[in-house]
Amino acid sequence: MRTGHDLELVHVTKRYGGSAVAVSDVSHLFAGGSYVCLLGPSGCGKSSTLRMIAGHETVTEGSILLEGKDVTRLPPAKRGTAMMFQSYALFPHLSVTDNVAFSLKMKGVDGAARRAKAAEMLELVDMQRYADRLPSQLSGGQQQRVALARALITGPQVLLLDEPLSALDPFLRVRMRGELKRLQRELGISFIHVTHGQDEALALADEIVVMNNAKIEQAGPAREVFNAPATEFVARFMGGHNVVSLPRGRFAIRCDEIRLVSGPEGQLSGQEAVVQAVEYQGAHVALTVRAAGDQEIVALIPEAAFFERPKQPGDAVRLAWDEGRLHRLHA
Ligand code: ADP
Ligand code: MG
Repeated sequence: MRTGHDLELVHVTKRYGGSAVAVSDVSHLFAGGSYVCLLGPSGCGKSSTLRMIAGHETVTEGSILLEGKDVTRLPPAKRGTAMMFQSYALFPHLSVTDNVAFSLKMKGVDGAARRAKAAEMLELVDMQRYADRLPSQLSGGQQQRVALARALITGPQVLLLDEPLSALDPFLRVRMRGELKRLQRELGISFIHVTHGQDEALALADEIVVMNNAKIEQAGPAREVFNAPATEFVARFMGGHNVVSLPRGRFAIRCDEIRLVSGPEGQLSGQEAVVQAVEYQGAHVALTVRAAGDQEIVALIPEAAFFERPKQPGDAVRLAWDEGRLHRLHA
Protein backbone atom coordinates (compact mmCIF):
# COMPACT_ATOMS: atom_id res chain seq x y z
CA MET A 1 0.00 0.00 0.00
CA ARG A 2 1.42 3.36 -1.06
CA THR A 3 -0.48 6.12 0.67
CA GLY A 4 2.22 8.72 1.26
CA HIS A 5 3.16 11.62 -0.95
CA ASP A 6 5.82 11.43 -3.65
CA LEU A 7 8.80 13.74 -3.23
CA GLU A 8 10.70 14.79 -6.32
CA LEU A 9 14.05 16.50 -6.76
CA VAL A 10 14.36 18.16 -10.17
CA HIS A 11 17.88 19.15 -11.27
CA VAL A 12 18.81 20.22 -7.74
CA THR A 13 22.21 21.84 -7.24
CA LYS A 14 23.76 23.24 -4.06
CA ARG A 15 26.77 25.54 -3.93
CA TYR A 16 27.97 27.08 -0.67
CA GLY A 17 29.34 30.58 -1.23
CA GLY A 18 32.09 30.44 -3.81
CA SER A 19 33.14 26.89 -2.91
CA ALA A 20 32.84 23.72 -4.95
CA VAL A 21 29.47 22.17 -5.64
CA ALA A 22 28.05 20.08 -2.75
CA VAL A 23 25.10 18.64 -4.70
CA SER A 24 25.33 18.60 -8.49
CA ASP A 25 22.22 18.47 -10.70
CA VAL A 26 20.47 15.71 -8.74
CA SER A 27 17.08 14.47 -9.97
CA HIS A 28 15.20 11.72 -8.16
CA LEU A 29 11.67 10.61 -7.34
CA PHE A 30 11.22 9.35 -3.77
CA ALA A 31 8.09 7.19 -3.86
CA GLY A 32 5.49 8.04 -1.23
CA GLY A 33 5.31 5.73 1.79
CA SER A 34 8.75 4.22 1.25
CA TYR A 35 11.83 3.86 3.43
CA VAL A 36 14.72 5.36 1.49
CA CYS A 37 18.35 5.40 2.62
CA LEU A 38 20.70 8.02 1.22
CA LEU A 39 24.03 6.24 1.39
CA GLY A 40 27.53 7.45 0.65
CA PRO A 41 30.91 8.42 2.08
CA SER A 42 31.48 11.50 4.21
CA GLY A 43 31.32 14.73 2.22
CA CYS A 44 29.39 13.36 -0.78
CA GLY A 45 26.42 15.70 -0.24
CA LYS A 46 23.92 13.61 1.76
CA SER A 47 23.23 16.14 4.53
CA SER A 48 23.06 19.02 2.07
CA THR A 49 20.45 17.12 0.06
CA LEU A 50 18.43 16.37 3.19
CA ARG A 51 18.64 19.94 4.47
CA MET A 52 17.42 21.30 1.13
CA ILE A 53 14.45 18.92 1.25
CA ALA A 54 13.71 20.08 4.80
CA GLY A 55 14.05 23.75 3.89
CA HIS A 56 16.94 24.34 6.29
CA GLU A 57 19.25 25.13 3.37
CA THR A 58 18.49 27.12 0.22
CA VAL A 59 18.47 25.43 -3.18
CA THR A 60 20.99 27.04 -5.55
CA GLU A 61 19.34 25.66 -8.70
CA GLY A 62 16.46 23.32 -9.43
CA SER A 63 13.25 22.54 -7.57
CA ILE A 64 11.73 20.27 -4.95
CA LEU A 65 8.16 19.00 -5.40
CA LEU A 66 5.99 17.32 -2.77
CA GLU A 67 2.97 15.59 -4.32
CA GLY A 68 3.50 17.77 -7.39
CA LYS A 69 3.52 21.03 -5.42
CA ASP A 70 6.63 23.21 -5.63
CA VAL A 71 7.95 23.62 -2.06
CA THR A 72 11.43 24.85 -3.04
CA ARG A 73 11.04 28.22 -1.36
CA LEU A 74 8.63 27.36 1.46
CA PRO A 75 9.81 27.61 5.08
CA PRO A 76 10.43 24.25 6.83
CA ALA A 77 7.16 24.27 8.80
CA LYS A 78 5.04 24.80 5.65
CA ARG A 79 6.38 21.91 3.55
CA GLY A 80 4.92 18.74 4.99
CA THR A 81 8.40 17.52 5.93
CA ALA A 82 10.03 17.20 9.35
CA MET A 83 13.64 16.65 10.27
CA MET A 84 15.23 14.68 13.06
CA PHE A 85 18.72 16.02 13.62
CA GLN A 86 22.01 14.19 14.05
CA SER A 87 22.34 15.71 17.54
CA TYR A 88 18.88 15.43 18.98
CA ALA A 89 18.83 19.14 19.89
CA LEU A 90 16.26 18.84 22.68
CA PHE A 91 15.64 21.90 24.83
CA PRO A 92 17.44 21.07 28.11
CA HIS A 93 15.14 23.15 30.33
CA LEU A 94 11.87 21.70 28.95
CA SER A 95 10.22 18.45 30.03
CA VAL A 96 9.83 15.61 27.56
CA THR A 97 6.17 16.57 27.01
CA ASP A 98 7.00 20.23 26.42
CA ASN A 99 9.83 19.32 24.03
CA VAL A 100 7.47 17.14 21.98
CA ALA A 101 4.67 19.73 22.05
CA PHE A 102 6.95 22.67 21.22
CA SER A 103 5.95 23.15 17.58
CA LEU A 104 2.25 23.05 18.53
CA LYS A 105 2.87 25.78 21.10
CA MET A 106 4.50 27.89 18.36
CA LYS A 107 1.36 27.37 16.28
CA GLY A 108 -0.81 28.61 19.15
CA VAL A 109 -2.47 25.27 19.96
CA ASP A 110 -3.91 25.43 23.51
CA GLY A 111 -2.25 23.65 26.42
CA ALA A 112 -4.65 20.73 26.90
CA ALA A 113 -4.79 19.90 23.20
CA ARG A 114 -1.04 19.95 22.77
CA ARG A 115 -0.41 17.84 25.86
CA ALA A 116 -2.92 15.26 24.56
CA LYS A 117 -1.19 15.18 21.17
CA ALA A 118 2.25 14.95 22.82
CA ALA A 119 1.04 12.00 24.92
CA GLU A 120 -0.15 10.25 21.76
CA MET A 121 3.26 10.76 20.09
CA LEU A 122 5.11 9.56 23.22
CA GLU A 123 3.01 6.42 23.18
CA LEU A 124 3.98 5.84 19.56
CA VAL A 125 7.66 5.77 20.53
CA ASP A 126 7.00 3.99 23.84
CA MET A 127 8.08 6.91 26.06
CA GLN A 128 4.86 7.73 27.98
CA ARG A 129 6.53 6.85 31.28
CA TYR A 130 9.13 9.57 30.86
CA ALA A 131 6.78 12.44 30.00
CA ASP A 132 7.78 14.61 32.97
CA ARG A 133 11.53 14.12 32.84
CA LEU A 134 14.15 16.54 31.55
CA PRO A 135 16.34 15.46 28.61
CA SER A 136 19.38 15.21 30.91
CA GLN A 137 17.55 12.48 32.85
CA LEU A 138 17.29 10.26 29.77
CA SER A 139 19.68 7.87 28.03
CA GLY A 140 20.85 8.57 24.47
CA GLY A 141 18.36 6.11 23.03
CA GLN A 142 15.51 7.64 25.02
CA GLN A 143 16.45 11.16 23.93
CA GLN A 144 16.34 9.94 20.39
CA ARG A 145 12.80 8.61 20.82
CA VAL A 146 11.77 12.00 22.16
CA ALA A 147 13.35 13.72 19.16
CA LEU A 148 11.41 11.35 16.90
CA ALA A 149 8.13 12.11 18.68
CA ARG A 150 8.88 15.81 18.38
CA ALA A 151 9.44 15.52 14.63
CA LEU A 152 6.33 13.38 14.10
CA ILE A 153 3.92 15.64 16.01
CA THR A 154 3.74 17.99 13.04
CA GLY A 155 2.15 15.18 10.96
CA PRO A 156 4.77 15.22 8.17
CA GLN A 157 4.38 13.33 4.88
CA VAL A 158 8.15 12.90 4.77
CA LEU A 159 10.39 12.37 7.80
CA LEU A 160 14.04 13.26 7.25
CA LEU A 161 16.65 11.60 9.45
CA ASP A 162 20.33 12.54 9.33
CA GLU A 163 22.48 9.68 10.66
CA PRO A 164 19.93 9.07 13.44
CA LEU A 165 21.68 5.98 14.83
CA SER A 166 25.30 7.10 14.76
CA ALA A 167 25.47 8.13 18.44
CA LEU A 168 24.11 4.83 19.75
CA ASP A 169 26.07 1.76 20.83
CA PRO A 170 25.91 -1.20 18.40
CA PHE A 171 23.19 -3.15 20.24
CA LEU A 172 20.92 -0.16 20.67
CA ARG A 173 21.55 0.81 17.06
CA VAL A 174 20.20 -2.49 15.80
CA ARG A 175 17.18 -2.26 18.11
CA MET A 176 16.40 1.32 17.13
CA ARG A 177 16.64 0.58 13.43
CA GLY A 178 13.97 -2.10 13.92
CA GLU A 179 11.81 0.51 15.65
CA LEU A 180 12.33 3.06 12.88
CA LYS A 181 11.24 0.52 10.31
CA ARG A 182 8.17 -0.40 12.36
CA LEU A 183 7.22 3.27 12.80
CA GLN A 184 7.56 3.97 9.09
CA ARG A 185 5.29 1.02 8.25
CA GLU A 186 2.73 2.03 10.87
CA LEU A 187 2.60 5.66 9.79
CA GLY A 188 2.72 4.93 6.05
CA ILE A 189 4.76 8.08 5.38
CA SER A 190 8.15 8.30 3.68
CA PHE A 191 11.34 8.16 5.70
CA ILE A 192 14.50 9.50 4.06
CA HIS A 193 17.38 8.32 6.22
CA VAL A 194 20.96 9.45 5.68
CA THR A 195 23.66 6.96 6.60
CA HIS A 196 27.21 6.07 5.64
CA GLY A 197 26.71 2.46 6.79
CA GLN A 198 25.85 -0.01 4.05
CA ASP A 199 24.59 -2.62 6.54
CA GLU A 200 22.18 -0.06 8.00
CA ALA A 201 20.93 0.83 4.52
CA LEU A 202 20.48 -2.83 3.54
CA ALA A 203 18.61 -3.57 6.76
CA LEU A 204 16.20 -0.67 6.47
CA ALA A 205 15.69 0.52 2.95
CA ASP A 206 13.02 -0.22 0.38
CA GLU A 207 15.20 1.90 -1.85
CA ILE A 208 18.90 2.74 -1.55
CA VAL A 209 20.20 5.91 -3.18
CA VAL A 210 24.00 5.77 -3.37
CA MET A 211 25.70 9.17 -3.59
CA ASN A 212 29.28 9.89 -4.60
CA ASN A 213 30.93 13.24 -5.35
CA ALA A 214 27.73 15.32 -5.15
CA LYS A 215 25.81 13.02 -7.52
CA ILE A 216 23.56 9.97 -7.37
CA GLU A 217 25.70 7.04 -8.49
CA GLN A 218 22.93 4.41 -8.36
CA ALA A 219 19.41 4.06 -6.95
CA GLY A 220 17.19 1.04 -6.63
CA PRO A 221 15.75 -1.61 -4.32
CA ALA A 222 18.26 -2.72 -1.66
CA ARG A 223 18.77 -6.19 -3.17
CA GLU A 224 19.28 -4.78 -6.63
CA VAL A 225 21.90 -2.25 -5.53
CA PHE A 226 23.73 -4.95 -3.59
CA ASN A 227 23.54 -7.67 -6.24
CA ALA A 228 23.88 -5.55 -9.35
CA PRO A 229 26.22 -2.65 -8.52
CA ALA A 230 26.42 -0.41 -11.58
CA THR A 231 29.91 0.92 -10.98
CA GLU A 232 33.13 -0.05 -9.27
CA PHE A 233 32.46 2.63 -6.66
CA VAL A 234 29.09 1.08 -5.71
CA ALA A 235 30.53 -2.45 -5.70
CA ARG A 236 33.33 -1.41 -3.34
CA PHE A 237 31.18 0.83 -1.17
CA MET A 238 28.42 -1.75 -0.68
CA GLY A 239 31.10 -4.33 0.15
CA GLY A 240 30.82 -8.08 -0.17
CA HIS A 241 32.11 -7.96 -3.76
CA ASN A 242 35.33 -8.40 -5.66
CA VAL A 243 36.10 -6.21 -8.64
CA VAL A 244 37.99 -8.28 -11.20
CA SER A 245 39.60 -7.38 -14.52
CA LEU A 246 39.04 -9.97 -17.23
CA PRO A 247 39.99 -9.75 -20.92
CA ARG A 248 36.37 -8.71 -21.60
CA GLY A 249 36.26 -5.83 -19.11
CA ARG A 250 35.71 -5.15 -15.42
CA PHE A 251 33.25 -7.16 -13.40
CA ALA A 252 31.92 -7.46 -9.87
CA ILE A 253 31.39 -10.82 -8.26
CA ARG A 254 30.14 -11.48 -4.76
CA CYS A 255 32.79 -12.80 -2.37
CA ASP A 256 30.47 -15.68 -1.41
CA GLU A 257 30.25 -16.75 -5.07
CA ILE A 258 33.96 -17.60 -5.16
CA ARG A 259 34.74 -21.26 -4.49
CA LEU A 260 37.94 -23.18 -3.99
CA VAL A 261 38.25 -26.24 -6.22
CA SER A 262 40.88 -28.95 -6.26
CA GLY A 263 41.05 -29.41 -10.04
CA PRO A 264 39.63 -28.02 -13.29
CA GLU A 265 35.83 -28.23 -13.29
CA GLY A 266 33.91 -28.61 -16.54
CA GLN A 267 31.97 -25.40 -17.13
CA LEU A 268 33.72 -23.27 -14.57
CA SER A 269 36.31 -20.66 -15.17
CA GLY A 270 39.09 -20.91 -12.68
CA GLN A 271 42.46 -19.56 -11.88
CA GLU A 272 45.50 -20.35 -9.85
CA ALA A 273 46.00 -18.20 -6.78
CA VAL A 274 48.03 -18.02 -3.58
CA VAL A 275 46.49 -17.50 -0.16
CA GLN A 276 47.58 -14.21 1.42
CA ALA A 277 45.45 -14.07 4.56
CA VAL A 278 42.87 -16.12 6.43
CA GLU A 279 40.32 -14.39 8.63
CA TYR A 280 37.79 -16.27 10.73
CA GLN A 281 34.46 -14.43 10.75
CA GLY A 282 32.18 -16.90 12.51
CA ALA A 283 29.71 -18.15 9.91
CA HIS A 284 32.32 -17.65 7.17
CA VAL A 285 36.06 -17.65 6.73
CA ALA A 286 37.39 -14.81 4.57
CA LEU A 287 40.28 -15.89 2.40
CA THR A 288 42.31 -13.18 0.70
CA VAL A 289 44.18 -14.60 -2.26
CA ARG A 290 46.46 -13.21 -4.95
CA ALA A 291 45.47 -14.35 -8.44
CA ALA A 292 46.82 -13.88 -11.97
CA GLY A 293 47.62 -10.28 -12.88
CA ASP A 294 48.38 -9.51 -9.24
CA GLN A 295 44.65 -9.24 -8.50
CA GLU A 296 43.57 -9.54 -4.89
CA ILE A 297 40.37 -11.53 -4.49
CA VAL A 298 38.40 -12.26 -1.32
CA ALA A 299 36.55 -15.56 -1.08
CA LEU A 300 33.98 -16.03 1.69
CA ILE A 301 33.92 -19.74 2.43
CA PRO A 302 31.25 -21.21 4.73
CA GLU A 303 32.89 -22.15 8.02
CA ALA A 304 32.26 -25.91 7.84
CA ALA A 305 33.47 -26.17 4.23
CA PHE A 306 36.66 -24.27 5.07
CA PHE A 307 37.57 -26.47 8.02
CA GLU A 308 37.10 -29.64 5.96
CA ARG A 309 40.17 -28.50 4.00
CA PRO A 310 41.80 -25.65 5.92
CA LYS A 311 44.19 -23.32 4.08
CA GLN A 312 47.08 -21.23 5.27
CA PRO A 313 48.91 -18.21 3.91
CA GLY A 314 51.27 -19.39 1.15
CA ASP A 315 49.06 -22.31 0.05
CA ALA A 316 48.32 -22.59 -3.67
CA VAL A 317 44.59 -22.79 -4.42
CA ARG A 318 42.37 -22.78 -7.48
CA LEU A 319 39.42 -20.39 -7.65
CA ALA A 320 36.17 -21.07 -9.45
CA TRP A 321 32.95 -19.18 -10.02
CA ASP A 322 29.93 -19.42 -12.27
CA GLU A 323 30.31 -17.12 -15.26
CA GLY A 324 26.67 -16.17 -14.85
CA ARG A 325 27.41 -14.56 -11.49
CA LEU A 326 29.84 -12.04 -12.98
CA HIS A 327 28.30 -8.62 -13.15
CA ARG A 328 29.64 -6.16 -15.71
CA LEU A 329 30.59 -2.73 -14.33
CA HIS A 330 30.21 0.59 -16.11
CA ALA A 331 33.14 2.98 -16.18
P1 ADP B 1 27.73 14.45 3.82
O1 ADP B 1 26.52 14.67 4.65
O2 ADP B 1 27.54 13.43 2.74
O3 ADP B 1 28.95 14.15 4.65
P2 ADP B 1 27.60 17.31 3.27
O4 ADP B 1 26.35 17.55 2.53
O5 ADP B 1 27.62 17.65 4.71
O6 ADP B 1 28.07 15.80 3.02
O7 ADP B 1 28.77 18.11 2.56
C1 ADP B 1 28.97 18.11 1.16
C2 ADP B 1 30.06 19.12 0.83
O8 ADP B 1 29.60 20.43 1.12
C3 ADP B 1 31.33 18.93 1.63
O9 ADP B 1 32.42 19.25 0.81
C4 ADP B 1 31.20 19.93 2.74
O10 ADP B 1 32.45 20.38 3.17
C5 ADP B 1 30.43 21.07 2.06
N1 ADP B 1 29.57 21.80 3.02
C6 ADP B 1 28.59 21.27 3.78
N2 ADP B 1 27.99 22.22 4.52
C7 ADP B 1 28.62 23.40 4.22
C8 ADP B 1 28.47 24.76 4.63
N3 ADP B 1 27.52 25.10 5.52
N4 ADP B 1 29.31 25.67 4.09
C9 ADP B 1 30.25 25.34 3.18
N5 ADP B 1 30.44 24.07 2.74
C10 ADP B 1 29.65 23.12 3.24
MG1 MG C 1 26.29 14.48 6.77
